[in-house]
Parts: sequence; C-alpha cells; structure tokens
Amino acid sequence: MDGSLYFPVATPPAPGAVIPIAPGILWLRMRLPFALDHINLWLIEDGPRWTAVDAGFSLPETKAAWEQIFAASLGGRPIGRIIVTHYHPDHIGLAGWLTAHWQAPLWTTEKEWLHAQMHSRPDDGDAARIRRDFAQRAGLDDETASIFAERQGNYRRGVPSVPPAYHRIGEGTAIEIGGREWRVIIGEGHAPEHACLFCTEARVLIAGDQILPKISPNISVQAHEPDGDPLARYLASLDKLRRALPSDILVLPSHNLPFHGVHQRIDELAAHHHARCAEVVAACARPLSAAELMPILFRRRLDRHQMGFALGEALAHLHYLAGQGEIECATGADGVDRFLCKAT
Ligand SMILES: [Zn+2]
Repeated sequence: MDGSLYFPVATPPAPGAVIPIAPGILWLRMRLPFALDHINLWLIEDGPRWTAVDAGFSLPETKAAWEQIFAASLGGRPIGRIIVTHYHPDHIGLAGWLTAHWQAPLWTTEKEWLHAQMHSRPDDGDAARIRRDFAQRAGLDDETASIFAERQGNYRRGVPSVPPAYHRIGEGTAIEIGGREWRVIIGEGHAPEHACLFCTEARVLIAGDQILPKISPNISVQAHEPDGDPLARYLASLDKLRRALPSDILVLPSHNLPFHGVHQRIDELAAHHHARCAEVVAACARPLSAAELMPILFRRRLDRHQMGFALGEALAHLHYLAGQGEIECATGADGVDRFLCKAT
C-alpha cells in the first residue's frame, strides 16, 4: 500500500475476462510487451450498447482477448463508441481495429488524434535525423544517439492504423454515457491533450496515465519539440485536477490497480517531482548535460525503451528548472546543452 491509498480489488482481471469495478463499469486488462507489462481498459454500459475507453496495444493476443470479451462479456450488446484518453500506443493501438470491427466512432481530443496521425506517417528520414540531433544536443554519444533515433519507427508496431476521422472532445465536454454525465478534464505534460473522464454521479475518475497509483507517469521532452517544458504543464494539470476532483472518488488508472485517495496521490506525485528537482539543482553545481544527469536520476540499468524515457524525463526536469530561473543552460562548442545552477 502507498501511504493512505486504498485498493478495493487486489486481483486484476485476466486477459479476456472482466471485473465489474463500479456500477455499469467493467475493468479489462491487456498485456504489453514492455517492462510495464499491462494496461487497464474500461467498458461502460451505454443503454443498448457499450462505450469502450482505450483500446490496447496491437498484439495478436490482445485481439484474441477482445474477441473473448465480445463473445462472453457484452451480453449481446455492441460496442457503440471508443473513447481514447491519449495517443500512446497502449491506449490508441487497436482503436482502428475496434472502430472498423464495430462500425463505431472514435472519440478523442484534437491534439491526441493529430499526434497519433503524426507518429503514424511513414518515416522519410527526417524523424530519425531530428531524434539523432536531439540526442546529441542532450549529450548522448554517437552510438547511443543512433539507437535512440531508431526508436521512432516503433509507434506503428503498436498502432497499425489510426481511424481517419474522429469526434472531438475537449476540456469540459459533457459526454452522456448510459444516462450519466461524464465530464472531460484535460491533463497535459504526459501527453498533449490527455482526456480524463469524471462522473460526479458514479464518483469515478477514469484517469488514463495522468494519475497512476504506483509509478510516476513519464513526463518527457520530445524530439519534435526540443525546447518544451512538459513538467510545468504536468504540475499545473495536477493542481487543476486536485481542485476539480472531490477526495472520495474511485480512480481507475491505466496501470496498476483502481484506488481511493486521489488527493493524497496527486500530492505524492507533485512531491516526487519537486524532490527530483532538488536532486537536479544539487547535481548542477557543475555544468551537466541531460545524458550526464540520467545515471544520477535513474540508478538502475535501463533498457533501450527505458533509456528514451529517461533522457526525455531528465530534460523535462532541466527545462522546468531553467524556466523557473534556478539553473541556466549554455550550449557548448560541441553542440551539447549543459545546465548550471545559478550563482546565489
Ligand atoms: Zn501514456
């Protein structure tokens, strides 16, 4: 248990099975081919049909698990709408397949749909070049920068198709699902326009990756926006969510277990980043690149997948602190950005 968080159901559903987690809401779990090995998805009763929230990463076994659910868990009702919280492959991956299978529309935010389209386009070499430049500017050596650059092609592995049209939702959109109103609350920092869904009547928040109970959502500077400050956006979103949400709600996160204690968890996530920032400021007593900061922030060995996240996350903390005026960035003759604590 984390502090005062309370997890009402200790055992998640097996792939292909469902657990009713709140009135009218089913919990599904699908596998992921990463260190983070699972994602939670949700089905909400919607009159004569179901609304699905998130789709899962494209894997043959995930399609098979969905088909098992279609056959055994929907009570003969179709899926009539797929709402996607954000563009990451574990969330939008099978949305194209689901919308085609059910002839059902995709509902998502504009920036998430556009990001999915952007990351799905064939690589003309620009994307790899941008990523290599980004990695070199962050101080990675040439070999590691090349490995980092190659990761770009991976998006389409998990997202074979993005629905070519969508229904737009955004901050404050009221969505009627099965006679109850769900309100969209946008989170930033983890993804550009991440939809969280809150139902006052059910006292349930579908949090996506914006608030997770056990791990901190990845907050990364992206190669296509190399000067971005996603951590400032994420912390501002946490503040907004804390003000918008009552304390006594059930949170349905995309990873780990449903939990109670949303305010506590928001405070823990903010405190985690502030503690990280203090470590970064201390480390920047000498000029430091993001690559040099990575082993200070992440003491465990990182695989390739995690290395990309770690670099983006190190930069997110550096850019946030530079934006707050606590450290300064100087680009060296070698083209590498190094950050130094401002003299006090
Ligand atoms: Zn995500």
